[in-house]
Amino acid sequence: MRNKLVILGAGESGVGSAILAQKQGYAVFVSDLGKIKDKYKSILSKYNIAYEEGKHSEEKILEAEIVVKSPGIPDTATLILKLKEMGIPVISEIEFAGRYTKAKTICITGSNGKTTTTLLTYHILKNSGLNVGLAGNVGKSFAWQVAEENHDFYVIELSSFQLDGMYDFRADVAVLLNITPDHLDRYNYTMQNYTDSKFRIIQNQTENDYFIYCADDEVIQSEIAKKKIKPACIPFTLKEPANPGAGILKEKLIINFNQKQFSMSILDLSLSGKHNTYNSMAAGIASMVFQIRNEQLRECLSNFYGVEHRLEQFLKVHGIEFINDSKATNVNSTWYALESIPKSIVWIAGGIDKGNDYTMLKPLVKEKVKAIVCLGKDNSKLHAAFGKVLKNVVDASSMEEAVKTAYYLARNGDTVLLSPACASFDLFDNYEDRGNQFKEQVRNL
Ligand code: ADP
Repeated sequence: MRNKLVILGAGESGVGSAILAQKQGYAVFVSDLGKIKDKYKSILSKYNIAYEEGKHSEEKILEAEIVVKSPGIPDTATLILKLKEMGIPVISEIEFAGRYTKAKTICITGSNGKTTTTLLTYHILKNSGLNVGLAGNVGKSFAWQVAEENHDFYVIELSSFQLDGMYDFRADVAVLLNITPDHLDRYNYTMQNYTDSKFRIIQNQTENDYFIYCADDEVIQSEIAKKKIKPACIPFTLKEPANPGAGILKEKLIINFNQKQFSMSILDLSLSGKHNTYNSMAAGIASMVFQIRNEQLRECLSNFYGVEHRLEQFLKVHGIEFINDSKATNVNSTWYALESIPKSIVWIAGGIDKGNDYTMLKPLVKEKVKAIVCLGKDNSKLHAAFGKVLKNVVDASSMEEAVKTAYYLARNGDTVLLSPACASFDLFDNYEDRGNQFKEQVRNL
């Protein structure tokens, strides 16, 4: 009899895990409470993997010896609690796939900047000729690649939900970009729980591994002060660099590592804004761990195009610049967007607010924003926060109306910035849909 493995959630990570599990000789059953995308159904059928959708058949699921859970399913779901009570291990796709590869892993987490830094690190390693896979929240799942491709390195984006399902997995290089309040609804509204989750990125690391982190982040610093950290620590900062470490000296990005020094002008970085300087430093250090040459690193940090929906400079219409930052779903990422734009801004904001506190944005709004277009079903918090600071705080109920209103309010030389600081589900399918609709409406102007 083959060991039974159940997969909960048939998205990219679930289907990848199913393929890997089958290859490893498990009897696999996939169960999804919602509808499974046609693309994934046909893959499961092609591989002859049993699945169900629209329900979780407990009698089958509770027979499992091991369960791989999609990061979207909270630990508090009744079924998960039942499995745990019965002592059935519930793990994440990354934990599962990590058991079947000897490849080196570079794991990247943080509240903001994960995708950008993951893609940038991948860009550097790939262009340097390494046999590297891109995994985690972006691209093809880690498990799928472990099953069917044979990479020597993986750059993996890890959300806190994925980290929560990781127990024995060890990252060769762990990157922690920042910790600011996000997803607290999944952490019992306790910041420490969320912080603990992020720090799981270094669990199991040994003295031979590396921990790259932001030294300017107070939450990270105070957590480090409480812990005994085993891996080699390499901090990055916008101040002077440590050794080893990365930092800024006279407009130059400097990385000290392993008796070597890397330096380049920050004006030559392809990604602009302070937040992206952090991301470039983190990716740069990770690359130096794998002996990427200085010239190669410099070239890759200056020719990376950036990622769609993240401070994407989309179009200029009659001298007005339109920037799509739809992926900014919390206050912190919007702070960096407002911070990085020098000109006067018409800011399109709003959506579903995850308990936002707008206080930190007020100074930037006073200094740079000339009007706010609120695009959400309920805009009352935006009005309450900024109604007294600005004369022009107006509502829009569709992207078409928002873009037209912003265009009307802006003048030659201004910037229209979509950086909502909120989730998108009240008016859009997801942040990509919101960003795409923005671009479509800008094109129509
Ligand atoms: P994540 O994958 O963590 O959501 P992204 O790279 O998709 O991060 O970026 C999400 C948003 O956060 C974008 O608006 C982006 O401009 C902003 N951002 C990117 N890097 C950082 C950073 N280091 N600190 C704060 N905000 C950032």
